[in-house]
Amino acid sequence: PMTITTQHLVAMFVAIADAIEEHKDHLSELDGVIGDADHGVTMGIGFTAVREALGQLDTAENEPAIVFNTAAKTFLNAVGASSGPLYATAFMRAGAAAKGKPELDRDAMVEAFCAMAKGIQDRGKAERGDKTMVDAWLPAAEAIGEAAERGDDLAACFRAAARAAEEGAEATKAMRASKGRAARLGDRSLGHIDPGAASTALIVGVMATQLTG
Ligand code: ADP
Ligand code: MG
Ligand code: MG
Repeated sequence: PMTITTQHLVAMFVAIADAIEEHKDHLSELDGVIGDADHGVTMGIGFTAVREALGQLDTAENEPAIVFNTAAKTFLNAVGASSGPLYATAFMRAGAAAKGKPELDRDAMVEAFCAMAKGIQDRGKAERGDKTMVDAWLPAAEAIGEAAERGDDLAACFRAAARAAEEGAEATKAMRASKGRAARLGDRSLGHIDPGAASTALIVGVMATQLTG
């Protein structure tokens, strides 16, 4: 689609919830190597709760921002792990960026996406190279901004973001963790992909597929 409606956004969150559920074990296995083995479970709980909450929403009566705001509130309440407040902040910022808009065009979607990345960084205070989800979110935000500047359409913008998130997640293998649980491992975190960055690549990939369909 050229512009994103409330209904499109709900479908996007449902598709993310499905993908997280499908890759839950893999994400927890990644977290088992450098964390506490629950990342798939925590993300699964969060997005399943979001899916349920969005199922109650009247998509004809509500603007797109409500979807992000509902996701933010629900994720925060459902998830105790560090990814809870990080994603809650991301969705809250996207909701603020989208506020008042009846539909989201390319620039509004790009703005909401970049607001998510910035929210995660502001909330967790991780820098690039700390081996966290920021190492997937920030390159993705940069790539989507560049794509929009080039004049790419919505679909191409999100494909660029998905590619950058994937590369960013892969690059965390070579990083030493200095934020979150994995920081305790020091050098032993080397050689392993960060679970939060891996789920980011998954999420942004689903966004691209959904928003380009
Ligand atoms: P927990 O570590 O509390 O069990 P999860 O397993 O759900 O939480 O999430 C772990 C992921 O959270 C890490 O792989 C990392 O990507 C991300 N993370 C942890 N701390 C931060 C932070 N301060 N900033 C950004 N991301 C972080
Ligand atoms: Mg964990
Ligand atoms: Mg945990």
